[in-house]
Amino acid sequence: MSQQGYVATPPYSQAQPGMGGYPTGFGSPSAQALYGHYGAPPQTYPSQPAGMQKAPASSPSGMPPPPVPGHYGSNIQQNGAHSQRFPPPPAASTPSMSPYGQPPLSQYQSMAQATPPTQQLANQMSAMNIGGYGQSLMQPPQSPSSSAGQQQFQSAPPPAMGHPLLTPPGPQSPSMGAPSPMTPGPPMGSMTAPPMGMTNSLSGPPPMGGGAFQQPPGPRPQGFPPQPGPYGGQMPGAQMAGLQPGFPGAFPGGTAQMAGPPQKKLDPDSIPSTTQVIEDDQAKRGGQVYATNLRGQVPPLVTTNFTVQDQGNASPRFMRCTTYSFPCTSDLAKQCQVPLATIIKPFATLPKDETPLYLVNHGETGPIRCNRCKAYMCPFMQFIDGGRRYQCGFCNCVNEVPVQYFQHLDHMGRRMDLYERPELSLGSYEFAATLDYCKNNQPSNPPAYIFMIDVSYTNIKSGLVKLLCEELKTLLDRLPKEEGMESSAIKVGFVTYNKILHFYNVKSGLGQPQMMVVSDVAEVFVPLLDGFLVNFQESRAVINNLLDHIPEMFADTNESETVFAPVIQAGVEALKAAECSGKLFIFHSSIPTAEAPGKLKNRDDRKLVNTEKEKTLFQPLRGVYEQLSKECVSQGCCVDLFLFPSQYLDIATMGDVPTHTGGSVYKYNNFQAHVDGEHFLSDLRKDLEKSIGFDAIMRVRTSTGFRATDFFGAIYMNNTTDVEMAAVDCDKAVTVEFKHDDTLSEDTGALIQCALLYTTISGQRRLRIHNLSLNCSSQLADLYKSCETDALINFFAKSAYRAMLNQPLKTVREILVNQTAHMLACYRKNCASPSAASQLILPDAMKVFPVYMNSLMKTPALVGNAELSTDDRALHRLAVMSMGVEETQVLLYPRLIPVHSVDVGSDVIPAPVRCSEERLNDAGVFLLENGRSLFLWLGQACPPDLIQSLFNVPSLAHLTAEVTSLPELDNPHSKKLHSIISSIRELRPYSMKLLIVKQKDRPEMLFRQYLVEDKGLHGGASYMDFLCYVHREIRQLLT
Ligand SMILES: [Zn+2]
Repeated sequence: MSQQGYVATPPYSQAQPGMGGYPTGFGSPSAQALYGHYGAPPQTYPSQPAGMQKAPASSPSGMPPPPVPGHYGSNIQQNGAHSQRFPPPPAASTPSMSPYGQPPLSQYQSMAQATPPTQQLANQMSAMNIGGYGQSLMQPPQSPSSSAGQQQFQSAPPPAMGHPLLTPPGPQSPSMGAPSPMTPGPPMGSMTAPPMGMTNSLSGPPPMGGGAFQQPPGPRPQGFPPQPGPYGGQMPGAQMAGLQPGFPGAFPGGTAQMAGPPQKKLDPDSIPSTTQVIEDDQAKRGGQVYATNLRGQVPPLVTTNFTVQDQGNASPRFMRCTTYSFPCTSDLAKQCQVPLATIIKPFATLPKDETPLYLVNHGETGPIRCNRCKAYMCPFMQFIDGGRRYQCGFCNCVNEVPVQYFQHLDHMGRRMDLYERPELSLGSYEFAATLDYCKNNQPSNPPAYIFMIDVSYTNIKSGLVKLLCEELKTLLDRLPKEEGMESSAIKVGFVTYNKILHFYNVKSGLGQPQMMVVSDVAEVFVPLLDGFLVNFQESRAVINNLLDHIPEMFADTNESETVFAPVIQAGVEALKAAECSGKLFIFHSSIPTAEAPGKLKNRDDRKLVNTEKEKTLFQPLRGVYEQLSKECVSQGCCVDLFLFPSQYLDIATMGDVPTHTGGSVYKYNNFQAHVDGEHFLSDLRKDLEKSIGFDAIMRVRTSTGFRATDFFGAIYMNNTTDVEMAAVDCDKAVTVEFKHDDTLSEDTGALIQCALLYTTISGQRRLRIHNLSLNCSSQLADLYKSCETDALINFFAKSAYRAMLNQPLKTVREILVNQTAHMLACYRKNCASPSAASQLILPDAMKVFPVYMNSLMKTPALVGNAELSTDDRALHRLAVMSMGVEETQVLLYPRLIPVHSVDVGSDVIPAPVRCSEERLNDAGVFLLENGRSLFLWLGQACPPDLIQSLFNVPSLAHLTAEVTSLPELDNPHSKKLHSIISSIRELRPYSMKLLIVKQKDRPEMLFRQYLVEDKGLHGGASYMDFLCYVHREIRQLLT
């Protein structure tokens, strides 16, 4: 069936002006192999470009003062931008403990014994305290000559993340920088250097063999370049002095020179703290009403509790941007390399105290839209000519106001009915769609949910089938229903399968359900039309009868083989036959090895980890599954996959259809009904009850000068502009990147309109509109001031996770580091006040960006460690692709909540502490959650009375390793802990099974990998080390 069939109705599919010609085919998740910002072709860094020699120190002294100076200790800066400085980690060298240096087997042990990062830094600080400069603590060590500095680089390429450090840093390690011929002085002012082609004007020693690292005049190469050719051959900066660049695999440096000077302890509190940033924002903006009446207004953080009042811009719950002030020109955008993106969650759940979206009906002619760009009526349309015409805010076209829509203007030029019409005064609302917006111009049918249960041996034996069938009898009463309707309009159907498929006739009035077997899995057909998809209320008796019988019918099965693609095929055929959209709930146990289309084999080759071919582990097999995705999307068939594996399943492939159809993938390893049943059932309940739209197509329009160029999510793209989703639920977000076409105007700003056409759960066709207006500025300081770290990291996570399908992980990580350094260096150069090069200066709105970025690189998908399950890594990757900002925020910086000192009389959840081992306390009890996992950590010295209250045993020693659940006891501590846990679970899309770990027990490793400020268990730097490394990179860029 053609993708275009119903989409191509004239009102909807007309191309946006200026759009065109980007081949974004299906399936190649990076259809543009070049994940590049601003389209810059990948370049290499000339190691020593001619004519780029370091400028004499005095030459820049005549430069103008910085445009927006930021002063430490002063928050009063132009436009409120203020930077923050931190006692800078020394630019050079970490001592011998390379963060990736441990052989895998000893990681756990060595972690406990390793010198704490703070100590390392203190060591460095001491070693560095040798320069005669004003802020000696912040100076890098001196080296005898620049050539030595360079040589050091050449001789000690850092190993990649996850690799043991084979070569210990040599004795030449101290030579981290060349002695500077310059003296501190006037050049300070030159920090404002011209936008491009910085001259070295920093006082103090240039960092790290700086002579070889002149900034080329153009932008630093960006993006994940295509990866053909030799490993790493085309990496940005690959020629930099022979260094494998950009990755903190090991920081050149050594211990030798660290010995000697007295050691000082550096307070880890001095580096930016995510928990502090979250608390500060909560204190400043929590509990307030956030009115969306201002263009370019930066919303409170996603972690802050606030109430949104729609006054003309979409709530940040629907749309969040990486920055609320776009740079006016593409040159500025290239210069700063801050991605311009918005994360759209069209069906975001609104709190009860916020108004649900209004439904607007413009009658038979359908919603009023601009004739040229097809943007929908919204607050950005300017009425003129006494109200007879309006100018489109997106394309500037002047349109006639339809007669029936005419209204007089007031003395301010506003329509008199402004506040009576949601589409003129609100950021978000819905339009009733006319038949023009329906498939084949026919009214839509309500969707159907089909439950497809693998009844092979594994699922029978684990108790899953019985548990599920029992649950469905009550769960189906909770199918979502349209507001005001008595019962759900969603129809239901049932299929069981192993190597063959069984369909059931559950038509109301039947005494018994009837089974129909389809054994030809090569060409699946639906053996019955009437009686397969039914209303649960009407067929309750027959359905309950069926659900009682299914576990019995297959109780003695020996069948261990399954099919998979034919199951999806059967589901989509059934929806086609019923002419409706819907969702398949597939409960599956094993890799589909039975002879059938889409048969899979084990391709879990861990030897590929950390090689050029690692990406193939995450690439789905094409062919059958690619075709299935296409058919599903065309039919509006969403696929949700619940997996119960005991071994490798090839989730990269099996998860492909779900992640192209707006579906979700859940996995329960070695499922046992009595242990994991509740966890699975609560996921299933959440999933089934979710608010959701079907057969959706989303279009993002923009005002002139920029446009949406790239889309990330559980989506399908058949062309460059239409984002197709078989379904989109309240937890699914699409990240959209924008690029400049032209210069943006500070006066008119940048306008974005997201229009989502979809079918409601009762079969109504609607358009959901979200509008957002952003500022534009020719000052980069405005951009940095308006950045949103949480949105930025969402963008980076998704773009990196897509890039890893086509490039070595190492390259992807390097690009992430490079871009981090570049964004921060550009801020420093253009927006921060002059200061010693050795000081690390971060924009206030991005001050915790490095901790998130470092955490991202340590995620299972990106870390590259053969000990990790390939399926877990693939699943993590797929899950992140559709996450919203809240989910990526907590995923990358988990909440670590001390619960031992909780006030049992209060409703408040204790403030989380930083995710580091140092913050744990032997006598404490902590909860850790990241939206996917939930841990209760018990300190060794945890008071026995607390253990008694929580577990009803006299001491920690009485808790065996098999303890898997937290009993509900009748005492304040137990009740309080349970109430905290349930409030956490309520917040998150996944139910999160609680894992209980004791300090120093082996399972504690599972917990420790989430302490993201520490060195990664599977590779990856500590936050402190990463900051040091990034600082050094920044200094190189500024040299
Ligand atoms: Zn227009």
